[in-house]
Amino acid sequence: MTSHNDHLVSALLELASDFLARQSTGAISSGGQSISTPFSTTSQSDWAEGVRHWNDNGRHLIADLPGRDCPACGHEEHRHLFQSYDGYPYVECLSCGCWYVPLKVEAELFERFFEHCPQAFAVVQRNLQSRQSETSKQSNLERIGGYLDNLVPMLESTDPIRYLDMGCGLGHSLHAARTRGLQATGVESSRECIALAAQDGLAVFHISDKELQNRPFHLVSFWESIEHMVDPAAVLQECLENLAPGGLLAFTVPNQNSPLVRAQREDCSFINGGYDTPGHINLFNPATIERLLERSGYKLLALDGQYGINFEELVSYMLGKHRGAHEMLQDQVIRNDLSGETIALLSAIGPAFALLERITLISPILFGFACRKDDAGHFSQATQRYHQSRCEQLLAQINRMEPASTNVAVLEQKLRMTSDNDAAVEHKLHVALERIESLEDQLLLARNPLRRLARFVRSKLKPPKG
Ligand SMILES: [Zn+2]
Repeated sequence: MTSHNDHLVSALLELASDFLARQSTGAISSGGQSISTPFSTTSQSDWAEGVRHWNDNGRHLIADLPGRDCPACGHEEHRHLFQSYDGYPYVECLSCGCWYVPLKVEAELFERFFEHCPQAFAVVQRNLQSRQSETSKQSNLERIGGYLDNLVPMLESTDPIRYLDMGCGLGHSLHAARTRGLQATGVESSRECIALAAQDGLAVFHISDKELQNRPFHLVSFWESIEHMVDPAAVLQECLENLAPGGLLAFTVPNQNSPLVRAQREDCSFINGGYDTPGHINLFNPATIERLLERSGYKLLALDGQYGINFEELVSYMLGKHRGAHEMLQDQVIRNDLSGETIALLSAIGPAFALLERITLISPILFGFACRKDDAGHFSQATQRYHQSRCEQLLAQINRMEPASTNVAVLEQKLRMTSDNDAAVEHKLHVALERIESLEDQLLLARNPLRRLARFVRSKLKPPKG
């Protein structure tokens, strides 16, 4: 199978090099796919407006904030990296390499800001409405429901399982847990979210409330909330007291090692999210999240990468075609603006890159779970099963990477754009057709994409003479 694929890949690459040799780079327009906004529930215009209000009326508040040390390892020494467009300095811990804002950015800061900037609060209200939408709720229910389905079987059956979500927002996670028969409690720092969740009949406490009901919990989660916390080690240590023996701690965090973050820095859109709540003031990677957990009394059991970056967005940025967040915050619609050839090659190698992201844990989001240090042995079998299942998923991902089906459509599109009168191209088409037909013979399969391509190439060729 590999040798057949190698033939096809070399045929594709030869055609790609031919297109490039004809110096048509840039001549075939990609149509310029626009790049979507960073926060699924916030529109680009609301985001840009929110950052503008903050920069005009709130940003000066940063100057008075007390400093803080590395959230992952607790060390103080750091080097300056960059400043976000909403005014936060980002530094790198010289001990563990964690990227963070060396300031205590608490939720109360924004309560003060909203008091003298009602326009900014109006933007927050709009965002809250969009987060309450059925679409947003459904996607959260599905995503978090998926995590719970993986985690709950690892817990020893306790009837009922008590679940705590730290930073539960509007409480969609709690709904997902309830439908699975779990007893669900939430903790949140936004008073607006708490009020809305209460209207929804959910038990959500403010982060400053020390007396939680239903404790201890068998499962505690942080779904993209640790990155917003001033002292995540203290919060995790407190959670350890609320965690039942044999309980699990699960989390997702944005990944500092994602190429978008490492390459774009302040131009990466989600770096600029500190205009209405503490933004991503901690950026963890696999090593630093493990360091944080270890320091807080936990043993990290497993990590996995989730989602994939928009490869075209990154390459387009590297080629200087756009300036990322800098342009998006000026209400400009940014487009990939890549040549057809580049897009063809990117889509050919895209599935391999997505695989690399997950295997090397450079995906935009990290998912993981941990337990009390002295419970690690208790989870060894469950952890082994999880690793096994991850390997199986990766293998399935590899098996799905069939150049024959993914590249043919792109190639066909390229061929559509070629001139019928170009003798060199005509020759290439003959060669390509021969290769495609020989592949069809070798594979002895009714591979529809190959047949379609062969038919198309034939239609581009002049009828044989004589
Ligand atoms: Zn550190």
